[in-house]
Amino acid sequence: MTLKRTRHDHAPRPPLRWLTRAACQDADPGLFFPITGETAQQGQADDQARRICQACPVQPACLDWALRTGEPDGLWGGTTPAERRRLRARRQQAPATA
Ligand code: SF4
Repeated sequence: MTLKRTRHDHAPRPPLRWLTRAACQDADPGLFFPITGETAQQGQADDQARRICQACPVQPACLDWALRTGEPDGLWGGTTPAERRRLRARRQQAPATA
């Protein structure tokens, strides 16, 4: 049996349930994990991937997972690693709610 490789081959094990409903299951993994240093191409890949994320039914769960785990690479929940670092910093600065 041959298993098809997808972008979620980058995801942690065991697989997360919400991944089965991800809009990017059949997308080119290179869109979500572009090769760095090719700025113009990376921007185009980010735009394409973000459009997929905008239509994804599990975007909130994906982004929450990436923020909680500190996922350092790739586009998750429609955010780049730099955007997630800023979001995590804001979460840590926000006062805790009861
Ligand atoms: S939000 Fe984006 S990266 Fe996350 S599962 Fe959906 S399409 Fe994939």
